[in-house]
Amino acid sequence: MTDGSEQTAPAVWIDALRFSWGRRAGFALSVPELCIAQRESVLLLGASGSGKSTLLSLICGIVTAQAGTVAIAGTDIATLSAGTRDRFRAEQIGVIFQQFNLLPYGSVADNILLPLRFAPQRRARTGDVRVEARRLCDALGLPPGLLDRPAGRLSVGQQQRVAAARALIGRPPLIVADEPTSALDAATQDSFLRVLFEQTQAAGSALMMVSHDERLAARFDRVLRLEDIAQTKRSAA
Ligand code: ADP
Ligand code: MG
Repeated sequence: MTDGSEQTAPAVWIDALRFSWGRRAGFALSVPELCIAQRESVLLLGASGSGKSTLLSLICGIVTAQAGTVAIAGTDIATLSAGTRDRFRAEQIGVIFQQFNLLPYGSVADNILLPLRFAPQRRARTGDVRVEARRLCDALGLPPGLLDRPAGRLSVGQQQRVAAARALIGRPPLIVADEPTSALDAATQDSFLRVLFEQTQAAGSALMMVSHDERLAARFDRVLRLEDIAQTKRSAA
């Protein structure tokens, strides 16, 4: 992890990956190869239930494959113990969930700064954490003065911007977003994506976003379809 290879390694590299949720669940996924370069923005399209979130969970190391390799910034995550993998994920990946997963009673600032607790390198890159939280809010179009408000009191669009700030803080090499705009109306969706792209580029992070919405394609460096990069298998339980 410290031999310098992470400087040039792709943000994501997958080789001969095979994963199954287990025989009872009856869904299996295999990905022969997938490479996402540093700073690249990739949209992964696929129908509901096609396995997009499963693939993101594999990339984040939330679940582990039965065979093959998932390497993030040059590190094969299967070589890490569970605890090390959690810390590694906190350092390397900013995650934006479909339902935001904010702590509703925590302040906006608490929510944004949360990943830094588990990621000393991101913490070290951030400098004054309050100043950086305020800068991100401002860049993402959150009104000043929200920082000390409970996150649960914000509008849906504002909560999504808080989730984006939490993913971006400390400039992790990879931002992963699972259908992050599906709860937003069209106008909010558009402005959210614009600021997310600006800030992802400013942070120098790669972006992997999952959606079933083809209309988002034009914004990305590359568009992948799950059915083109993966084979999936479904069997009756
Ligand atoms: P998508 O994100 O494209 O809608 P998912 O990756 O969520 O698709 O789901 C793909 C398949 O995997 C579905 O058949 C789903 O039921 C199954 N699946 C998803 N998560 C789990 C889980 N935690 N346990 C068992 N099966 C799951
Ligand atoms: Mg999903």
